[in-house]
Amino acid sequence: MNFYILTLFPDMVREGLNTSIIGRAVQAGHLAIETVNIRDYTLDRHNRVDDYPYGGGAGMLMQAQPVYDAWKSVTDRLGYRPRCVYLTPQGPTFTQTMAKEYAGEQDLIFLCGHYEGIDERVLEEIVTDYVSIGDYVLTGGELPAMVMVDAISRMVPGVLTNQESGSWESFENDLLEYPQYSRPEEWMGKRVPQVLLSGHHKNIADWRQQQAELRTRERRPDLWQRYVEGQGGGGE
Ligand code: SAM
Repeated sequence: MNFYILTLFPDMVREGLNTSIIGRAVQAGHLAIETVNIRDYTLDRHNRVDDYPYGGGAGMLMQAQPVYDAWKSVTDRLGYRPRCVYLTPQGPTFTQTMAKEYAGEQDLIFLCGHYEGIDERVLEEIVTDYVSIGDYVLTGGELPAMVMVDAISRMVPGVLTNQESGSWESFENDLLEYPQYSRPEEWMGKRVPQVLLSGHHKNIADWRQQQAELRTRERRPDLWQRYVEGQGGGGE
């Protein structure tokens, strides 16, 4: 899968995605992550990419032309217009379900805003998807793009090793993952639950399911409600 990230801060994105599992997947050729520096496309002789918003108001706005030309440099090369995600607090909130869906794309463009955002006209022209990573305002779209690339990449075949990919993860079937333990069997007087040492696969699976339900109910009542409804129940 190929990610193209349009940004004013390519180093931030490259450095953030170059390590650990995602870095390894790039090395192995499962993913390609290309940053495109929007500033390289400005026609302004002082290299500016932002200007005051019409109508007044605080802050500066990224101008349409450099953003459009940066995007076009990718789509001209590819010969088609892949989905283009604008990271913005004004979109629906990113979820694991969305990560899985995006992982089916061959190419995906991310557009990172900065300052007060981007001239609306270029957004209308190139953006297919508006996505937020949560109800708070960040200084730029770079961290949200990195969050999305990380979550989507984990869903791309070959990125996770068999050991890493475990069949059970939070949000599978609207449940959070059960608690997990590693060696030693006792730490600070706390023992690993006996059932996990039993080697009895059915009992372990039942215990994990129970714990996942308990945890979801306590920590994420909203998710629990969805789970209960999905089971055909009416909630409690
Ligand atoms: N003035 C904009 C508004 O009120 O909607 C916020 C601009 S924000 C300071 C600058 C950039 O950060 C945005 O263009 C967007 O790319 C990014 N950004 C900020 N918060 C975000 C969030 N919660 N999710 C995704 N992107 C975000």
